[in-house]
Amino acid sequence: MPWEPLTDEQLEIRDLVRTIARERVAPRAAEIDESHEFPWDVVELFREHGIFGLLFDEEHGGTGTGTLLALIAIEEVSKVCATSGLILAVQELGSLGLKLAGTAEQKARFLPSLVSGEVLAAYALTEAGSGSDSAAMGTTARRDGDEYVLDGSKRFITNAAVAGLYTVFAKTDPQAGHSGISAFVVESGTSGFEVARLEPKMGIAGSTTGELTFDGARIPATNLLGDEGEGFRIAMRVLDRSRPGVAAQGLGIAQGATDYALEYARTRETMGKPIAEHQLIAGKLADMETRCEAARGLLYRFGRMVDDGADDTELTKASAMAKLYCTDAAMDVTTEAVQILGGYGYIKEYPVERMMRDAKITQIYEGTNEIQRLVIAREMLKESRAFLLAGLA
Ligand SMILES: Cc1cc2nc3c(=O)[nH]c(=O)nc-3n(C[C@H](O)[C@H](O)[C@H](O)COP(=O)(O)OP(=O)(O)OC[C@H]3O[C@@H](n4cnc5c(N)ncnc54)[C@H](O)[C@@H]3O)c2cc1C
Repeated sequence: MPWEPLTDEQLEIRDLVRTIARERVAPRAAEIDESHEFPWDVVELFREHGIFGLLFDEEHGGTGTGTLLALIAIEEVSKVCATSGLILAVQELGSLGLKLAGTAEQKARFLPSLVSGEVLAAYALTEAGSGSDSAAMGTTARRDGDEYVLDGSKRFITNAAVAGLYTVFAKTDPQAGHSGISAFVVESGTSGFEVARLEPKMGIAGSTTGELTFDGARIPATNLLGDEGEGFRIAMRVLDRSRPGVAAQGLGIAQGATDYALEYARTRETMGKPIAEHQLIAGKLADMETRCEAARGLLYRFGRMVDDGADDTELTKASAMAKLYCTDAAMDVTTEAVQILGGYGYIKEYPVERMMRDAKITQIYEGTNEIQRLVIAREMLKESRAFLLAGLA
């Protein structure tokens, strides 16, 4: 029996997702990329098989199978189609504000339709003038009786126009910096809230990325998440738990590209033998496989930490390291996969070209990899390692 760290239950669910991904999603991946159309059929497939439920606790109607398995599901789907893997990752991203800071009433009101996938979620933090520096946002929310009135805009929001529920961050006290930010649940169809445009982009072509505008948009005060002023903390807590979803997407892309390049290298012959037997190509395959396995180690460790109830303060660095390593691996590994296929790697008939374009975004969104490095170093500086200096004058 091969060594296997997952339990029988985890293996069963992983294999179910793997089979659905290979048999139903993979044949659609090139078309989704080509058409730039949001794959509602994939959403329907996930709904039918209860895949969205993997992201939620049993008390809210989910499977309660934990974070590790949710990450594995994103990885498995992303091996064949990064746009489809992102549907799961963003369902988690857009739901986490409610899970972490929602009241029992808010959870009961909003979570069931997210668990079934009937409603898709989105997370709206970035603005045209504030990406990495999210505290510089300009969108405001003013209390007016039983409502808040939102004004401003958000840029680059995944699931724009397809989501039914948006976690939106806005300033309730514009003079107060980080502590003036609050978090809200905004439903599509709210008057004064519109999707102004969708962006054409390099990769993840079937995913929508759009600009949201709020022009006197009125939402019930009961849609405030946590207290006024808690929004920045909520945004960061969400990102600590959601970034590994992007890491899982990156790892899936990297492993998918490695698997494809391996099979290609086995059969493509030059100078009388398969290219896999030329040492320079064999070395690339070995490096790609090793990067994927190292990335998986960091990612699964994060999943286990959450499932074992690790403290929030421990998650920040583990999450940033998983995101950084898995997504840098995705870019490096897919670039090498294209190289292994030679000229064929560069043309659209072969999937590694799409995988390389899809990989790039994983280094950018949910905090660029430069920001991940800052986060990791900041957490390191909080740690005491003085014992290493013991004995030095
Ligand atoms: C396809 C797509 C989907 C997205 N989905 C979402 C979404 O669903 N929700 C959402 O809120 N946002 C989303 N984003 C936004 C994304 O998270 C931001 O684009 C990203 O955080 C970077 O912000 P920015 O584009 O403003 O770049 P900037 O912050 O302007 O950064 C530009 C460059 O400077 C670097 N940099 C910035 N500050 C520092 C620093 N202090 N030290 C070192 N380097 C630094 C950055 O790493 C980057 O290389 C999405 C973006 C894209 C392209």
